[in-house]
Amino acid sequence: MAPRKSTTERGYGYDHQKDREYLIYNHADGTPCDWCGQPMYVEPAKNFDHKPLHADHTKASEKAAGGRADRLLHELCNKRKGHSDEEHGPGWYALHGIEGADLDWPGGQVIDLSQCLT
Ligand SMILES: [Zn+2]
Repeated sequence: MAPRKSTTERGYGYDHQKDREYLIYNHADGTPCDWCGQPMYVEPAKNFDHKPLHADHTKASEKAAGGRADRLLHELCNKRKGHSDEEHGPGWYALHGIEGADLDWPGGQVIDLSQCLT
């Protein structure tokens, strides 16, 4: 019988916990979530999903390569993001007044069309 994988082997071990502690320590309550644009709070009850903030890898592919978590997201937003490399979700773009049609998916970057027409 194969031994169960430890949290470290799954990529959520000691380093990930330390990353989360560091991110929480440096978190300013009310900072907008990079995914939904709603404020994030260390106290779970204040978050729209009433869950503790999750440590996330902006680029999921970097997590697979052993990269460190580099930002906080709502738990629900982290689940919605899944394993994609998209930096922001629809709510964040709405908050910043950016229409989805202007986006250069899947990177989620706004491109300047005037640069393409010269
Ligand atoms: Zn969020």
